[in-house]
Amino acid sequence: MIRNVIVIPMDREGRLPSREVVEAAVYENAMVWNGSGFQPKTLAIRDGRFVDVSEAGASAVRIDLGGGFVVPAYANAHVHITPASPSGSWSYLKNGVFYAWNPNTTVLGRSELDFFKRPDSYDVATSQGGITEPGGHPEKLYVDLLPQWVAAYKGKTLKDFLGDAFHYGRTPQEIDASLDLLKSQKADFVKAYLLNSEEYQAPRDDPKSYGNKGLNPTNFPYLVAAARQRGLEVAAHVETAHDLKIAALSGTAMAAHLPAYWDIRNEEDLRRRTLTPADAKIVAQSGMLLVATYGIAGERYKAAEKNGKLDKTMSGRVLQVQAQNIRLLKEAGAGFVTGTDGSGPIFDEVEHFVSIGALTNGEALAVALASGKHLFPKRRIGCFEAGCEADFLVLSGDPSSDISNLRKITKRVKAGQELQAPPEKPAS
Ligand SMILES: [Zn+2]
Repeated sequence: MIRNVIVIPMDREGRLPSREVVEAAVYENAMVWNGSGFQPKTLAIRDGRFVDVSEAGASAVRIDLGGGFVVPAYANAHVHITPASPSGSWSYLKNGVFYAWNPNTTVLGRSELDFFKRPDSYDVATSQGGITEPGGHPEKLYVDLLPQWVAAYKGKTLKDFLGDAFHYGRTPQEIDASLDLLKSQKADFVKAYLLNSEEYQAPRDDPKSYGNKGLNPTNFPYLVAAARQRGLEVAAHVETAHDLKIAALSGTAMAAHLPAYWDIRNEEDLRRRTLTPADAKIVAQSGMLLVATYGIAGERYKAAEKNGKLDKTMSGRVLQVQAQNIRLLKEAGAGFVTGTDGSGPIFDEVEHFVSIGALTNGEALAVALASGKHLFPKRRIGCFEAGCEADFLVLSGDPSSDISNLRKITKRVKAGQELQAPPEKPAS
């Protein structure tokens, strides 16, 4: 029997049904993640936070988890499609992702940003548009490609996307102006593009480099410092080892990819994406968080295999370089965060780390379960002590023996409330 329940009425926009809100609950018979393993623990919650069991009160709802595995909710540090709707939110929550960073989007407005702060929605921080140079990534994507695929972008041109989906930063003055605009658009962080920065001086107007170039590496330290002066950290798009080093040496907070994330087709490109121990040391010492997005190559190779178009030698070499890059970075002490560069779940990414031999099951698990608190470091999430936000997942299998058990989610609790799928839209 459920006592101690109040009913929250439909919200102002009438988008969500009324739901029952539990003020206090005690979850018993749980195996709770402690940062390195699982131990039996009783979890008590009051007003959305963990409390000592004695403070839950006699009327608290009691839930027996039957020995289920309790873990921090997952995070996706690299996603571009983050709908501000109950169904969009649920597409993340159902896969355990409560926290996300959107590192480049057309400008999200006030009502969307507010939606991401709701206790019953996923929490999304956004960079709004990223900073690049004329003809640099992601200009080609928005101007030439997306209007062919996305109905909402049909007929849009450079003029529509500039100042919205991306900004230019050719000089310190232009960087300042773009950062001021991003600040006024309520960006939570800054996305900035480095691509093949070792050849930045090559002719900028070569059509082959359209969409495949980015900021002047000489300006990057200025960009990071100017963003920080405005209270914004920087996530950098990187392609090559040189890009990653420039980002690290500039004080960038996050690498939104690691070199060799894509299905590289030739040895020269792969060479430029192969880290040395010295590179790894620079990156680790910078304290930058690393979002490998290495599952992208894995998925693309799987698709190529299906179509009978897989170059087995080259794909094997790329995955070998991925594993080597991660191992060097890990040995140097660098920190990783899960991210996919898609709206999909994070399972594929962490399973990919294990399958290519880059991380052990235990290491990949630790990365998956610590990612949320890295994305929202000012909040008390990813922990189970009194005062921490009561956000967690319950799994029916032990992920420390098999990482794929991260998929076996049986409960999702956010801000102390058990999340449910939004009702299906009535058929029209
Ligand atoms: Zn991306």
